[in-house]
Amino acid sequence: MRRNAEELNKMRKAGKVVAEMHEVTRAAIRPGVTTRHLNELAAEVIAKRGARSNFLNYHGFPAVICTSPNDMIVHGIPGDYVLEEGDLISVDCGAIIEGYHGDAAYTAGVGEISAVAKKLIEVTERSLWAGVEQLTIGNRLHEVGRAVQRVAEGAGFSVVTEYVGHAIGTAMHESPQVPNYWPGSPGPTLKEGMVFAVEPMVNVGGPETYTLDDGWSVLTQDGSLSAHFEHTIAVTDNGPEVFTLA
Ligand code: MG
Ligand code: MG
Repeated sequence: MRRNAEELNKMRKAGKVVAEMHEVTRAAIRPGVTTRHLNELAAEVIAKRGARSNFLNYHGFPAVICTSPNDMIVHGIPGDYVLEEGDLISVDCGAIIEGYHGDAAYTAGVGEISAVAKKLIEVTERSLWAGVEQLTIGNRLHEVGRAVQRVAEGAGFSVVTEYVGHAIGTAMHESPQVPNYWPGSPGPTLKEGMVFAVEPMVNVGGPETYTLDDGWSVLTQDGSLSAHFEHTIAVTDNGPEVFTLA
């Protein structure tokens, strides 16, 4: 769906709230901090900015952010987990302003992290930006996934295929999906005013996943580390505009 200027402005505002949730949670990441605390900090930002949460109560999800440590890929529930030196923690945040959604995620290291963990973060973020660059008028949507996959697999990692990015607007998850791989066809032609959440999930080992009994937490089947970066981006006359940057 294409959004008009007024709608894009609301999405810009929602994106700024999400960016602030990133800043505030990122600044709090250190050994000894619980994921529940990160959720509380993010909830304060939502309240302070007069936003609403798109994560809370989403199919019953109990928090305003997802926190996914180490081999957890996405959808982790904040709680008693205490961050430890050497952990990777993926933090996914979302907010609604005047009915319009923002959605973005990052992965950070806790204290000193291993060389492979550092490389995973760097490669996953770079794969996101390679995807973002493809969001130009007249290009085809699935060039995004092709670009993400090239970067991730080029570094010797794998991309998760069971979970994907999405269009976003008056709902968090709109059609079409944005796979992080080439799905075998080029997909829709990109037009001015389309908005997408691009969100590569990259594993050190294989792409296979499983879900915990909590019904949410998605982990790598082989126990390898995973990272997740996401932005909400509009296709504009001036190229891709990332709404979820500070
Ligand atoms: Mg997200
Ligand atoms: Mg998303």
